[in-house]
Amino acid sequence: DSKVEEYDFPAILEQIHEEVQEHLDKGEVADYIPALAEVPKSKFGMALAMLDGDVYTVGDAEDYFSIQSISKVYSLTMALDCIGADLWKRCGREPSGNSFNSLVQLEHENGIPRNPFINAGALVVADVLAKHFDDPKQAMLDFVRARAGDDSIESDPEVKKSEAEHGHRNAALVHFMRSFDNIDSAVEDVLDVYYHHCSLRMHCADLARSFLYLANRGQCRHSDCQVINPERAKRINALMLTCGTYDAAGDFAFHVGLPAKSGVGGGIVGVIPHVAAISVWSPGLDSKGNSLAGGIALDRFTQLTGLSVF
Ligand code: GLN
Repeated sequence: DSKVEEYDFPAILEQIHEEVQEHLDKGEVADYIPALAEVPKSKFGMALAMLDGDVYTVGDAEDYFSIQSISKVYSLTMALDCIGADLWKRCGREPSGNSFNSLVQLEHENGIPRNPFINAGALVVADVLAKHFDDPKQAMLDFVRARAGDDSIESDPEVKKSEAEHGHRNAALVHFMRSFDNIDSAVEDVLDVYYHHCSLRMHCADLARSFLYLANRGQCRHSDCQVINPERAKRINALMLTCGTYDAAGDFAFHVGLPAKSGVGGGIVGVIPHVAAISVWSPGLDSKGNSLAGGIALDRFTQLTGLSVF
């Protein structure tokens, strides 16, 4: 067993970068949000942020892209800080086995979403933020900028507008849950908070750094801030492992073996507890809405290094 310091991470990332080239064309860029359909499929970036502060990158690791559902990890962290375990009265903790934007289970389950990472659950979380903060969008920006150590992070107004114009399913989800009294705020306020965080623009290096608190018992490395306690970090990691890649979570655990969160912008961030956080970006998606080459790259990384939770 080699020690983490002995790995040649630059060479490993370079090798993966070469290996994924043949897969970049195979996925489909998300087009249900038209602004996302404009991003070229040839893009690929990867970043590994170590707990000691080193960050290794390859490819387009400093190109900003739309983080989409990866933002649901930040919003969950903030909502748990606002209302703690009361959140679990309004949202479950089981994998859904359905697509991320599905409506079907809600009818039979009294408007309680299966987990906080499918759209329904993240919309309940957005409702908590809308209720709790005077300026929930600024609170989110402050949180994300501090975690990434990048004050230039913004929400992309074009993407946000595009999401809102084509967000009939999300609007339906909020209305439907409100009919079960599981939404307190005005529907448009919930959607505004949700689209704002889905439209955040970050790059791979930002993303990897920003997830270090989850690899480090809740403590952010560069800001030295205890963001959450170790128990909560453990729980969020467990939710990412079981629900972070939607109805592909089982397969993702099988291949990659890390708590991870994906987004339809083609980003995926994984947590290697006590060691590092790793992110990858490639806009072509598989049929479940996860980055196709991104999944392959993370699979190769954990195979080549043995750095997985299993
Ligand atoms: N904003 C997207 C949506 O609401 C997020 C989905 C995703 O990244 N899986 O559909």
